[in-house]
Amino acid sequence: MNSRRDFLGKITAASIAFPFLKKAASANNPFNEKPSEDRLLRVAIMGLGSYGTRVAEAMQSCTKAKLVGVISGTPSKVKAWQSKYNIPEKNCYNYSNFDEIKNNPDIDAVYVITPNGLHHDEVIRVAKAGKHAISEKPMTVNAQQAQEMIDACKKAGVKLLVGYRMHFEPHTLEIIKMRKAGEFGKVLFFQGLSGFIIGDPTQWRLNKKLSGGGSMMDIGIYSVNGSRYMIGEDPIWVTAQETKNNPVKFKEGIDETIQFQLGFPGGAVASCLSTYSLNYLDRFFLDGTEGFAQMYPSTNYGPIRGQTNKGEIIAPDVTHQTVQMDEMADIILRGKKPEVPVDGEEALKDLKIIDAIYEACRTGKKVKLEL
Ligand code: NAD
Repeated sequence: MNSRRDFLGKITAASIAFPFLKKAASANNPFNEKPSEDRLLRVAIMGLGSYGTRVAEAMQSCTKAKLVGVISGTPSKVKAWQSKYNIPEKNCYNYSNFDEIKNNPDIDAVYVITPNGLHHDEVIRVAKAGKHAISEKPMTVNAQQAQEMIDACKKAGVKLLVGYRMHFEPHTLEIIKMRKAGEFGKVLFFQGLSGFIIGDPTQWRLNKKLSGGGSMMDIGIYSVNGSRYMIGEDPIWVTAQETKNNPVKFKEGIDETIQFQLGFPGGAVASCLSTYSLNYLDRFFLDGTEGFAQMYPSTNYGPIRGQTNKGEIIAPDVTHQTVQMDEMADIILRGKKPEVPVDGEEALKDLKIIDAIYEACRTGKKVKLEL
């Protein structure tokens, strides 16, 4: 088993042919397996920071999506990306002039990878420019803004997707498949633990205007979203409690640690922890009347590992962002339906839950949800 895992670990996302993704892609692809240049999803990345850089690197192995443009406020970064990724001058924009992208026929979509609090306005500007929008998670900082983004994209006739990379991760999809097949029996419990110790106290993640909140917006969202795809239902109530040990670092509106509980219509409950004060916290556990699944790590950049009562989950280790962008090309260009949605409505549900978690922390009350 170990040697198979080692072997799989060495295969790159570009070269693997894990059957379910390949089958799904070709079923929706009326042309050949390797799309021709003009059928690639041509993407401009907005925000050339740490995650934008990771996505750009990963996109070099994409077969259906291509990085063709940038939007940045830092000319030196633009120059470096231009030479590294062969990006023409005409596909380079800054935050003042990127509305002009509407006159650029060589860009299909803009991937917004800026601080959370900026996604709302930027995605709406992208939509108004007639380009498909991909937003990083969290899609924005509350449900009302999420709805406005959905409405703007609908009105403009463009698609809105969110960078939920785990929705394409093979170990995750295998567990979802087993749960759907009833292999765990009636699922009644999920535990999601999401956290890391955050450094630099001056960074935007600890600035409410730019982050929209604290650990919950950044890392707790993985447990919120994971509870839904692992259990396979949307929650109907929330309770939550906040703990703050460092009020100097974690100011008003920036949550350090939140425990939250979600109730699901089928009777399952989820018990989750989101924190900026613990490392190695990246675990999912799903339990049913006939079996269990656990994942550790469950949502980091991988390799993801999972076990069930039947043994180790054997699935390919992929570069998440490579697979995500190839799958998003199929979703945007060829109307493919992903196994777990990655659209604006999916993100709206998470933001409604997060709004309710904050309300429950403030009031100490159980908050009902209608998703
Ligand atoms: P970062 O700080 O490394 O990069 C942010 C980029 O936005 C920088 O290039 C910065 O110059 C630019 N920016 C534009 N306007 C800005 C402003 N007013 N203030 C500050 N920066 C501004 O952050 P990051 O880690 O790349 O995160 C960006 C987004 O990506 C966030 O929404 C985050 O949640 C998301 N993210 C997602 C994943 C994932 O696994 N899906 C991982 C990391 C980050």
